[in-house]
Amino acid sequence: METIRLEKEERQLRQAAEILRRGGIVAFPTETVFGLGADATNPSAVQRLFQAKGRPADNPLIVHLAEPDDWPLAVSSLPTTARQLLSAFAPGPLTVVVPKQECIAPAVTAGLPTVAVRVPSNPVARELVRLVGRPIAAPSANRSGRPSATTWQSVLEDLDGRIDAVVCDNPSEIGVESTVVDCCQNPPVVLRRGAVTEAQIAAVVGQVSSPGNLQGDGAMVNSPGVRHPHYQPTARVRLVDSPPSADELRSLPGRIAYCGLQGLSRAAASRVSVARTFTSLEEYARDFYEFLRLADRDGAAWIVVERAKPEGIGAALLDRQTRAADR
Ligand code: AMP
Ligand code: MG
Repeated sequence: METIRLEKEERQLRQAAEILRRGGIVAFPTETVFGLGADATNPSAVQRLFQAKGRPADNPLIVHLAEPDDWPLAVSSLPTTARQLLSAFAPGPLTVVVPKQECIAPAVTAGLPTVAVRVPSNPVARELVRLVGRPIAAPSANRSGRPSATTWQSVLEDLDGRIDAVVCDNPSEIGVESTVVDCCQNPPVVLRRGAVTEAQIAAVVGQVSSPGNLQGDGAMVNSPGVRHPHYQPTARVRLVDSPPSADELRSLPGRIAYCGLQGLSRAAASRVSVARTFTSLEEYARDFYEFLRLADRDGAAWIVVERAKPEGIGAALLDRQTRAADR
């Protein structure tokens, strides 16, 4: 299959929408990471999407809508907390887990009676979903287990020849996936951290359980995807609290990459093949996955990563760093 590259102008977006309406799979930009879309009401399109990603069938997908008011397209009834969260944070990087509408293909929700929905704020994503006129299932546009793609070039690195088209746009602005909140429980439970923090959610719904309280089997049942390997480059990832010295780097075999908010000493810098010092937590979150991919392209054996402080978007970034290093 040839993967068509489309630009984000109206005529080509219509072409992308037509491919989706006919059961094709199309990658598109969102503010979090690039998504790989399929018509959520079409079982064979959804099956192709799982195949293209190599995604385990028990990991449910997030369904994207063009407008918060479109929720009846995917949702049977909206709990009060979900309504409050959508009015506060949609469009934006927040996903609510709510009772599913019958028309959503069972594979989308991995057979669960609930569905995860979100309204992206990226105007290209919204226009595309609006043009299709149906709910669009869209997990991150990468091979399952790999770091998410935050550029269209990285989408093609993983999926060229496996998907029908990619809509090209600038890199994703946030760079980590949406916050996922289970609104079928009271108080709501954060299943995955993202740019919208627990404090922001609690300010809207009063109380929220955070992922820290979720260790153990409860988390597995509520958010099946969390047990699969995620966000992992080919290189091994080592997390550190401060930049390594030249001596510490000597203990790692092969080519080494380093990223963090703090720079390396001159002696340590001479031992790494790629290094990136970020100027803010936001920039670190935005470019983290792309750095992991850059290090892989460079043939790194090890990527030394400075742990993010769990403040603001740092909590979501630290979660992804920990999972990238978990093997
Ligand atoms: P991704 O599509 O890769 O961004 O991942 C989607 C995330 O949403 C995964 O962590 C899923 O486990 C979670 N998710 C999706 N649908 C549901 C659902 N019905 N119930 C609980 N978690 C869900
Ligand atoms: Mg993903």
